This record gives sequence, C-alpha cells and structure tokens, in this order.
Amino acid sequence: MSITAPTSKTPELEIPGAAIPSDSLARRLRPLAGKPAGSLVIHEIYRSLQGESTLAGLPCTFVRLTACHLRCSYCDTAHAFHRGETVPLDEVVSRALATGDRLIEVTGGEPLLQPEVFPLMSSLADAGRTVLLETSGAVNIAPVDPRVTIILDVKTPGSGEAAANLEANLALLKPTDEVKYVVCDRDDFDWAVAHVRAFGLASRVPVLVGAAHGRVDPTELAAWVLETGLPLRLQVQLHKLLWGPTARGV
Ligand code: SF4
Repeated sequence: MSITAPTSKTPELEIPGAAIPSDSLARRLRPLAGKPAGSLVIHEIYRSLQGESTLAGLPCTFVRLTACHLRCSYCDTAHAFHRGETVPLDEVVSRALATGDRLIEVTGGEPLLQPEVFPLMSSLADAGRTVLLETSGAVNIAPVDPRVTIILDVKTPGSGEAAANLEANLALLKPTDEVKYVVCDRDDFDWAVAHVRAFGLASRVPVLVGAAHGRVDPTELAAWVLETGLPLRLQVQLHKLLWGPTARGV
C-alpha cells in the first residue's frame, strides 16, 4: 500500500508508508508546497567532516534539503523539517561546487522528496565530485544516478518508522552503496542483524551500525557487533564527538 502525495508543480510523488495518516503527510510536505519546478527548498549548504559513512573523516560539503515525511524517534535534524530557502537548481549546483570539496553529500530531511534532487546529483557527478546521498530508504531509489553512492538508512522498530522501509530498494543497491542502521536498544540491534542476514547485505555492501544518541552506549554496541561475527562497521557520530550533540551546521 502506498500514499500518493501531490506536490505543487511537480510530478506526483509516490511515498510508501501506509502508517502515515494523510493529514500528517500533507502537513509534513507543506514546506515543499508551491515550490516552482526547477528549484529546490534548501535548509543549508555547509562544509564539515563526513561523519557517518565509510568516508568518515574527509572534508565534505553538505547540501541539506528541507522536509521529511518521517518522524524517527531519534531524529537529530528536525530543524530541517520546516525552514528552507527556495533556490534554482543551477544555483544550488554552483553553491555546492564553490566550496571546492571533492566530496559532496546530499542529505535532509529526506532529500528524495524533491524531484530536482536527481539532476542536482547528476550535475555534481558531472563536475567530477564524489556524491553521497543519505536517504531513509523510504522513497524509491531507482532514479538515482548510478555514479552516486547511496547510504540507505534502514529504519529499525525503535525508530518508530520501520513500516516505511521500502524493501524493493534493497534489491537496487550497488556494491558501492552502503546500508546503515541506527539502533535504539538490544532488540533493535538484533532486528538489524536479522535484517542483514535475511537480505544477504553483508556480502553485498558495507553495513554500518550506529547507536541512537543517548539511548545505546557505543561501547556496548561495539561488543554486540563483535558477537555477531558479521563484518558490520561500527559508526560513531563524529560531529557529535567533535562539536557536541546539539551543534548545527557542522
Ligand atoms: S528520515 Fe532522517 S530526517 Fe527524517 S525523521 Fe528520520 S532521521 Fe529525521
């Protein structure tokens, strides 16, 4: 089952996730309403260190798009749910390239809610940049340029959004993509391990596991990872370690 959410002047967007009441969905997508075609609603563009992928530690430009149709219990980017600046696609590309970073991550919110994100990522790849996409995996990834590395954030039960996972996306992952689980407790971790095994993910892509901030001790999570015998990669949220849990734009 899916919910079809119309967005102004853009093709109809099909969003899986039967759990989202249609009035909530409409409210969550309101920041994108009236957005002219050929533009993006951007929350912020900034430089920092890549923190949550196999490229962690490298300088990276982040293009954070406004709005998300989900509400994960541990979300630390709720500031991107509402506020944003409508910017023509060409200008977003030029602003992202102007930083000079070789690595650019497109994130959100949920970046795939805006159709112009697809030509944005292709333009950045055309310019020779390494492009990462961080997505909830709750929107179809099929149209993503194959040059883009997708970091697919599989939602665990503890997130409160596991019903939104779009299983068909898992079959579309390339060896250069990555899958990430943010776990809220031991049950969540066990669920993630069962999910990795069920879909044979550990032999297909790097699998990242991180602790929901303040809910799981990363040291304990490290022990759980070692128990599995799987090649899971423990992720620490680098920006929280370096700049504190509430810092933004870093
Ligand atoms: S998908 Fe990402 S941005 Fe959206 S609510 Fe979940 S953690 Fe926050």
